[in-house]
Amino acid sequence: MRCEKCRSEVPDDEIYVKAGRSLCEDCYIEVMSVPRTCDVGAVSAARASRSLTGHKKGDEGLTPKQRTYYEFVKEKGTVLREELVRYMMSCYPDMTMEEGEGIFATLRHLELVKGHREGTGKDFKVYIDIWS
Ligand SMILES: [Zn+2]
Repeated sequence: MRCEKCRSEVPDDEIYVKAGRSLCEDCYIEVMSVPRTCDVGAVSAARASRSLTGHKKGDEGLTPKQRTYYEFVKEKGTVLREELVRYMMSCYPDMTMEEGEGIFATLRHLELVKGHREGTGKDFKVYIDIWS
């Protein structure tokens, strides 16, 4: 049998099946160890350590999605909207642009994040900034 990824010949009993693909052991390990863009666990850990040192009152009671969004902006200080959208979609693949806009509106209302534009006319970029 052939590994579908590296095309090397592998004995049948050393084939691993992952997401419908037959892979050799090396490729299987490689596929399994691909780092995920969004690590919700790491965010929780960061939050836990931060809550010991105190944090801005306004970020209490956020939904997980709102918090993921906020934590990402907080880490970056300022982030291109497209980059933030890509990050959020890597965490929540079924998230829509409307939902993202809704989160922004909520966080802006709480004075946690704000946006600004750079450029003029059609050629502008939107950034999301941490509220400070
Ligand atoms: Zn392989």
